[in-house]
Amino acid sequence: MSFDSLNLPEALLRAVRDQGFATPTPIQAQAIPPALAGRDLVACAMTGSGKTAAFLLPALARLGATPPRKPNSGPRMLVLSPTRELAAQTAEQHRLLARHTKLRGAAVFGGVGMTPQERAFRTHVEVLVATPGRLLDHLQNAYARLDGVEILVLDEADRMLDMGFLPDIKRILAKLPGERQNLMFSATMPPPIAALTRQFLRNPVEVAIDRVAKPATGVTQSVYPVREDLKTALLVELLRRDTIHNAIVFTRTKHRANRLADRLVKAGVSADRIHGNRSQAQRTDSLARFKAGKVRVLVATDIAARGIDVEALSHVVNFDVPNVPEDYIHRVGRTARAEATGDAWTFVSDGERGDLAAIERAIGKRLPQLKLDGFDYAQQPAERFEIPVAERIAEIRARKAEERKRAKANAERRAGRAAGRPATPPPARRDRHAHDSGSHRVAVPVGARPYRAGEGRGTERPAPGNERNRRPERATGVTVDPWPGRRGHGHAPAHAARASAPQPAAARPFHSGAGDRRDERPGDRPRARRRLR
Ligand code: AMP
Repeated sequence: MSFDSLNLPEALLRAVRDQGFATPTPIQAQAIPPALAGRDLVACAMTGSGKTAAFLLPALARLGATPPRKPNSGPRMLVLSPTRELAAQTAEQHRLLARHTKLRGAAVFGGVGMTPQERAFRTHVEVLVATPGRLLDHLQNAYARLDGVEILVLDEADRMLDMGFLPDIKRILAKLPGERQNLMFSATMPPPIAALTRQFLRNPVEVAIDRVAKPATGVTQSVYPVREDLKTALLVELLRRDTIHNAIVFTRTKHRANRLADRLVKAGVSADRIHGNRSQAQRTDSLARFKAGKVRVLVATDIAARGIDVEALSHVVNFDVPNVPEDYIHRVGRTARAEATGDAWTFVSDGERGDLAAIERAIGKRLPQLKLDGFDYAQQPAERFEIPVAERIAEIRARKAEERKRAKANAERRAGRAAGRPATPPPARRDRHAHDSGSHRVAVPVGARPYRAGEGRGTERPAPGNERNRRPERATGVTVDPWPGRRGHGHAPAHAARASAPQPAAARPFHSGAGDRRDERPGDRPRARRRLR
C-alpha cells in the first residue's frame, strides 16, 4: 500500500514525502481510512509504530477540508498526551506534517510559565496538544475554551491511566462538545481503558487490538544473566568492545541512573543521564547532546525517557529488568523505530528472574540468553551499587522540607482563590500531575503554513536559515516564536533536522516531576495504578 492510495490531500502527501516516508506503517494503513471517514477509532499502538501520523494525517485532512464548526471557539483538535516529552514530539510531528497547510498547532504542558501559553488559546490554533494537568490549569481561565473541539485524540491512554490521569481526562471530556470524533491510542487495553472506550467512543473501529503490543519487529531482544554487582562491569565491557554505537540504558531509579552514569564516565565512556530530578535545561541539554551523537550512552529512567524519539538508536539496555511488561515494551520500543533495526539487551540478576518471566509471558516468547565471551563472571564482588543510607536519609529530609514548603504555598494560593483573587499559576513544583507542571511552561504554536491543496513547491517557504519561525501571525499580527532555538530547517529532510537541531522549546523542558517509579517521593504524582499481570 502507498500513501497515495489513502485519499489524503496533496498538501499532506507532500509533507509525507518531505519526511521521507515511503509506505504507511501497518497502524497507518489500518487507522487512516476509517479516521478519514470520520469514524471513532480505538487503536492498539506503541510509540515507534507511526501512530502519531496515523491520527494526525486523517485529522488534518478532515480539518483542512471543512471550515470550523464553531469559529473562534478554541482549538478544533485536542490531543491529550501523558507526558510533556510526548506532547512536544507530537507537536513537532504536527509541525512537519502540517507544513503545507495553514493548520496551526500548539503544545501546552507543565514545566513552563502559564502566561505565554495563553496565546495558544487566544490566537485560536487549530490543533492543541496538551498534557491533562496543565490543560485543566488553563481551563480555570475564561480565555481557555474547548467548545470548538471537533476531534479528540487520547494518546497512550494506558499511560495516562497508569499515571493517575483518568479523573483529569474525564473532567476534560466533560468540557468538550458531545458531537466530535474520538481517536484513542493505547498500547494495552486494561479494563478501565476499555470502560472509557465504551463510555466515550461511538461505535469505534478497532484497529490491531492486542492484549500487549509487541516490540517492533526490527528489535533483536536478548538477555544477559549477570550478578547484580557486575552489571556495570559488563556494560563497560560491552561498550569497550564497540558493539554499541549508541544506547539508552534504563535503570530502575534516579539514584541508580546517576550512579551508573558517573561510573560510566569514570570508565571513560561518554555518558549522560536523564531523569526526574534533573532540571528542564539539563534534561534538554542531555537529550540534544545524545541525539547529536556527542554522548554515546544516555542513562534514563522510564518516565523521563517516555516519548523520546531518537533516530538511529542502535541499542536499548535494560540495566535493571522493568517490573511490568509494558515498561519493557516501551523501553525496547526506543530502538528499531519505524523500519529500522536495533538490539535490546536485558541484564538479569538472580533476583530479577521473576520479572523477566512475566515479560516473557507477556511477549509470548523466551528471550535468548547470552554470555559475553572473555568476561570474568566470577570476579570479586564490586562496590555496592545502591546509594549509601546516610545520603538517602539526607535526601528524604530535603524532600520533606520541600513538600512542606510547597504545601504552604498551595494553601496560600487556595486561600487567595477563595478570597476571589484571580487565579495564579500553581507554585513551581516538580510534582503536580507528574509531568505536567512546574516552573517553566511555554506555549508552542506550530505549523502555521497556509493550507492550499496542490500549492506550488516553495510557496511561502522561507530560505533555510532565515527567520521562518518569527513570522507574524496572520490573524492577530502577534509575533510568535513557535520553536525558539530552532531555526532554518528549510527543505532539509525531517530526520536530518531532528538529528541536528536543538530540541524545540516544547521538548526542552523535561519536567523534573516525571519521577521514577520506585524512588519518587510519596504524593509526587497521582497514584500510579500499576497493572500487574
Ligand atoms: P510514532 O510511533 O508516531 O512515535 O513514530 C515513530 C517514528 O516513525 C517517528 O520518527 C516518525 O517520524 C516515523 N514514521 C512515522 N510514519 C512513518 C512511515 N510511514 N515511514 C517511516 N517512518 C515513519
